[in-house]
Amino acid sequence: MNNLNSPAVPKVNSGVAVETVDVVIVGARCAGTAAAVPLARAGRAVVVLDKTRFPADTMSTHVLVPNGVQELQQMGALRNILALGPTKSKYLTLKDGDLEIRERFKPFAGIDYGLCIPRDQQDVLLVEAARDAGADVRERCSVEQVVWRDGRAVGVRYRTKEGEFEIHAKLVIGADGRKSRVAAEVDAWTPYRASKNGRGFAFRYLDDPMGEDAPSEFQIYRANGNQALVLPSCPAGRTLVVHMCPAEDIAAHRADPEGSWQAKLDQDPALRRRVGGATNMSKVRSTDDLSAYYRKSSGPGWALAGDAGHFKDPVTGNGMRDALKFGRLLGEAAAATIDDPDALDAALRAWERARDKDTISTYHWGNRESRPEPTSPLVRAVLRTFAGSEEPNLSDTFNRARSVESIINPTRLARGLARALTTSGVDRRAVLREVWGELPMEISARRHRLLDGFRSTRPTATERSGWSVGSAPRPPSWRAAANADAPAVKQPEFDALSHGMHGVSGCVECRRLSELQL
Ligand SMILES: Cc1cc2nc3c(=O)[nH]c(=O)nc-3n(C[C@H](O)[C@H](O)[C@H](O)COP(=O)(O)OP(=O)(O)OC[C@H]3O[C@@H](n4cnc5c(N)ncnc54)[C@H](O)[C@@H]3O)c2cc1C
Repeated sequence: MNNLNSPAVPKVNSGVAVETVDVVIVGARCAGTAAAVPLARAGRAVVVLDKTRFPADTMSTHVLVPNGVQELQQMGALRNILALGPTKSKYLTLKDGDLEIRERFKPFAGIDYGLCIPRDQQDVLLVEAARDAGADVRERCSVEQVVWRDGRAVGVRYRTKEGEFEIHAKLVIGADGRKSRVAAEVDAWTPYRASKNGRGFAFRYLDDPMGEDAPSEFQIYRANGNQALVLPSCPAGRTLVVHMCPAEDIAAHRADPEGSWQAKLDQDPALRRRVGGATNMSKVRSTDDLSAYYRKSSGPGWALAGDAGHFKDPVTGNGMRDALKFGRLLGEAAAATIDDPDALDAALRAWERARDKDTISTYHWGNRESRPEPTSPLVRAVLRTFAGSEEPNLSDTFNRARSVESIINPTRLARGLARALTTSGVDRRAVLREVWGELPMEISARRHRLLDGFRSTRPTATERSGWSVGSAPRPPSWRAAANADAPAVKQPEFDALSHGMHGVSGCVECRRLSELQL
């Protein structure tokens, strides 16, 4: 008899509690909580484990455009987030020398504003939403291993300050971020495609010199290869300022945070006018660890959601949106198929394929934006085609209302090129050289989206070598199992309550049973 449908029944053996649920999720921020909500709403027993105690910060800025805010609404977190009193930003502006763009965001599900909520304030409310839906979210639980049976993920082993525990489930979701232990455990750590980021991030909060009169808009300032964001945050009157600078500048930000901050403001008079003289500034945080990648994200009984499976340049402001959206879609797909392993695995693969299709344009756009170069005459001319109207165009790229390729389409590129070539004082040869350099990127990004197959490893011109995701947390446990002397013992049916021996390294119950049988 297979009792995997039963509600959680904790057992204690040799000091190790083993319980059984439908789904175990590792990581309780964007992707993990978004996956938990539909599962719990569908009546599935779902446990979410996080090694953190919330509220807790994480290395991230936190722009959500309307398309992302609607995900907060769907998971039931938006009401409490709005109660924090954030600014609702309805516009996106760009200022680059004499070029100015101001667009109103296209609404999604009636939401016509973006938010920028500090992660410590936001994520604790995501946890609350998951709990309200019925998920069992447990903090300070550090997952160390995936448990396997016959090549299928069937649970995780985790540690708390009370000791070691094991949960068995029909599905293991790794929503544990870029340094995902689950990715290492399922042997998906090394991305099958990736790109180095030429930019780093340096950011801090400040009391906006304009106070509560600050415009409710996300502002982009570009000058001399630096791109800065001014983002009304939470509560209203508090603002996040982000420098997306050349990655090489991050060392200077670390060595002399205040001096480097001031130097960046001095590089851009418009930005200095906007936020110079700010008070109550937090310390500067910075990172140059921003390689973009895709990891294999589904397999028998497991899936990687959010950053665990895919990451792209944060300049696109889409990481949380994708973690929330594809977390939710993963939860919905699993809720419908969880009792049939074959149907579940097929649904996981279809989910991964849909995620890739939806995100690939933004990945390539992010790769191209991660070159920290001054705005060229060609790019400036293309951007000018957006100016003079509040109609959403540039903002649609962030909002994912349309694919990047359909917004910056061949007609717009041709108009931009004509404009660049007829601008007085422009070096026409340099413009044509740039067209020649950009063409392979245009073609390969479009081909990849339209023609390349699932998990294509064919390199594209937008991808830069030299990327790194660091070392895996530790060797996958299944490799350790393969090297172990202990013979694998197979059981035809996995009965979670009476616990058939599945003979896979990592299962504490198996170890105990084999001791008893000896
Ligand atoms: C500098 C920077 C700026 C960014 N700016 C933006 C932005 O403006 N807008 C945007 O949309 N996105 C932005 N992003 C991307 C965004 O932060 C991520 O896409 C998003 O946080 C992904 O959410 P997640 O749930 O997948 O993972 P995470 O937010 O990384 O959460 C993973 C969770 O897993 C837990 N965990 C990890 N290992 C274990 C374990 N072994 N056991 C138990 N728990 C574990 C962690 O404690 C953590 O709580 C930025 C990223 C960076 C680095």
